[in-house]
Amino acid sequence: MNSALTLPGMCWPLHATVGNIAVTTSTMSGHFRAGAGCDGLVLCDLLPAGKFRNGAVRHWCRTHQCYWGTKADLADFAASQQMRCKQHASPMGYMLYPDVLDVSDYHAITLDYLDDGTLRLQAKANNGGTLLVRDVSALAIDSRSLPGLFHPSIVQINITPPAALAYVAALRSGVALGCIDCPRCAHPHLDLGDFALSPHRRHLCGHCGYDAVHGVAACVSTPLQRLRDHALRKPGHIKHWF
Ligand SMILES: [Zn+2]
Ligand SMILES: [Zn+2]
Ligand SMILES: [Zn+2]
Repeated sequence: MNSALTLPGMCWPLHATVGNIAVTTSTMSGHFRAGAGCDGLVLCDLLPAGKFRNGAVRHWCRTHQCYWGTKADLADFAASQQMRCKQHASPMGYMLYPDVLDVSDYHAITLDYLDDGTLRLQAKANNGGTLLVRDVSALAIDSRSLPGLFHPSIVQINITPPAALAYVAALRSGVALGCIDCPRCAHPHLDLGDFALSPHRRHLCGHCGYDAVHGVAACVSTPLQRLRDHALRKPGHIKHWF
């Protein structure tokens, strides 16, 4: 296979109950056949993540959202000389060159989720009042334009299709929503799929793999809820958030 490309973009596992959308880089590395799709092959991003219950050292793959370090992983490493997780060849959803919204440049921002999964963004430019209207399937929010809301190492919140879908499902079902920061890496926890519909107290961090992130009360956690709380405090800035 040709060597991987590193490009601005976002990717997401096609089936996952946790995710990593509060990212420290706007780029990703992998193999992509189009501007967007469901068949991206993205390189693993492995970091040490404590130990398995049997004492074996483990790593967490931030890209594919799974642990590395089982006997099968070690055997694959010995054979391939590559440290890669068991999901390394699984196709992923991706979008290259997504819109990145710097919210400090706009006011009266509205973000709607349409029935077909489209994100409809409307915003008035602070400079001149021009109306920005965008229909997209994924959108990045430049979090550095919202100082204090997220850990300073986070550069953007990637509103991926599964993150938007899970958030809307949680909102509509009326479950307790919150946004819990991991005590190890300070990144906001994201619940997806079934986990976004059943509030729980113990969470697995999709950024560092720490599996004992405890909330005070059971909830569904997503950074999109923290952005909603911001919107409720400053309705002139963000008028509607999902
Ligand atoms: Zn991986
Ligand atoms: Zn959770
Ligand atoms: Zn963490």
